[in-house]
Formats: sequence, structure tokens, C-alpha cells
Amino acid sequence: MNKEKVLEFAEGSLDRVLAFYDRQGISLPHRPKFRYAKVNPVGIMREPFMSVLPDEEAGKAVKTSWHRNFSRARFEILGITLSDEALEENLQIEISLNYLYLHKYWRENFSGADILLFPPLGKYLTDGYQKNLDGHMAHEVWHLIEKDRNVLHTTPLIAEGTARRAEGLFFGKDLAVAKNPNLYITIFYYGADCVVRDCMRAFRNPYKEMLNPQVRERAQRELLKRYEEKISEFFRRSCFEKDHVRSDPTNDAKSPFQERLLSNGLTPAGVAKTYRDAGAPTLARELEGQDLGPYIKSLKLLHECAAEPA
Ligand SMILES: [Zn+2]
Repeated sequence: MNKEKVLEFAEGSLDRVLAFYDRQGISLPHRPKFRYAKVNPVGIMREPFMSVLPDEEAGKAVKTSWHRNFSRARFEILGITLSDEALEENLQIEISLNYLYLHKYWRENFSGADILLFPPLGKYLTDGYQKNLDGHMAHEVWHLIEKDRNVLHTTPLIAEGTARRAEGLFFGKDLAVAKNPNLYITIFYYGADCVVRDCMRAFRNPYKEMLNPQVRERAQRELLKRYEEKISEFFRRSCFEKDHVRSDPTNDAKSPFQERLLSNGLTPAGVAKTYRDAGAPTLARELEGQDLGPYIKSLKLLHECAAEPA
């Protein structure tokens, strides 16, 4: 399906979704704008078909929240123990070398857009899934509603759960859940949807509750508690299992930091030098005193996967 046809479907779907949210008493200050993006150049995840354009502050908040909650555990899976100071240096690298370049790309290419449409959406619609488009649209528009109400920054880890819940509410049913959630999508989308559902059951207006900061914080805490072991399993798989490397959205083999790692060499000395040069002396020193074998193995696997077609 060509670009014009995809945009036409998207506009029609947006009309129905905005009318639906209007009936719930929720509106956006302006009609969201679409942009058709030929490729998703970032990361090694398989291309999504629709996505909200990341906003710099919200994106930094997501990165920060993700790292404050999971960095220690992820390094420990690799057999590495780090001090708080080293982890904080790692967070700064994540923001400056793994995130801001990405944001610059979005800003330079898609400034002014709210929702990006990717080519797989054309294929999806050609295959006869037009009816489902409204559900996906309700999901993306819900992200924009949370962004507009300033709740996305403070509780980003629950945001895919609330968006999936909004998608279910649009269809008037509970969406399917995963029997064994141990991947990013099954934990942070499907599992989070269940947590949100459980936290909302007693409330009359689920939309209002999903925008309530206290309720969101409770849901986010519950998500982290309920899936603690599953999250570790997901990290283990996304470090060491080829089939799962792509399932971790923080795995970005093309970031400036990964490029520096590759040019310094995937060896203990190369890794330490890359961190030291990137302004993380404590982290570099702590890494030098430990066995980096599993870490280097996982880096090699990441670059191997990135070199293969998606
Ligand atoms: Zn989403």
C-alpha cells in the first residue's frame, strides 16, 4: 500500500479515535499530525508500524527511570558489580551517547509531527487488518494524551500498560495476556496492562485514574514487584540469547557509544578505554578489576545481530 493510501487510512482512523476520546471527556489541544517515515533507522529492533515522536525531556526521563531501576541488575547478570557512582556515570553515557543522538535525528527529520507511520503499516493494512488500526491508533493517541497531561515523565515504566489498556477500553474488552511474560513486550505491554487493570478495577472512570499521578505510581511499583524475576529473565535472554537480543529496546548497536566500543576493540582494555574516554573514570576503573568475559560476549552477540537483516 502506498504512502498516500496509508495516510488516508490513518486520518480516517484518527477521526474515529478522537471522537471516541471526546465522548469520554478527554480531548487534545490540537489534532495530531502524521509523518510517514521511510525507515526506522535507530536501534536494531524490528520496525514498529506506528510510534509517537519522542520528546527530548520525556525521552530522558524514560532513560533515567529505566537505568535507575535496572542498570545494576543488568550488569549483575553479566557478573559485574558496580558502585552507585559508576552506575551514575553509566547513566550519563546512556543519555549523552545513547540517547541524545537519537533525539537529534528525530528532531532534524520529523520536527512538528506527533505520530510517525512506518512502511510495515502499509503491509499490515494490505493484509486486511484495517479494522485493528483503530485500536493501535487509540494506543498512540493515549500516549499523546499522557504527554499533554505531563504524566509520562514521572511514571514512564507503566506507560505501555496504560496505552494498551486504553486500546482495550476502545474495543470494550480486555486484551490478551501472555502466559509466561519474559520479554520486553510481554512484560511492559501485556503484563503492565494486567497491573493497570488490577489497579483500576474499583474505579468508575479508568481514563481519569490512568492520568492520576498517585495511581500511576502505585501501578508502576506493582509492575516492578510483580515481574521482578521475569524482568531478570528478560535481561538474561537479551544479553545471551540471539533470538532475544532484538527484543530489548535499549539494545542499540548503532549508537555513538557502540561505535566507539567497536573502534577501540571488544576487549577488556578496549571497553575500559571507551568508558574512560567517555568521561566515566570510576566505571572504567571498576570494570578493569573484574572479569569482563560475559559482557564482551554479549557485546559481540549484539553486533552480530545488528549485522544481520531484521
Ligand atoms: Zn506504545
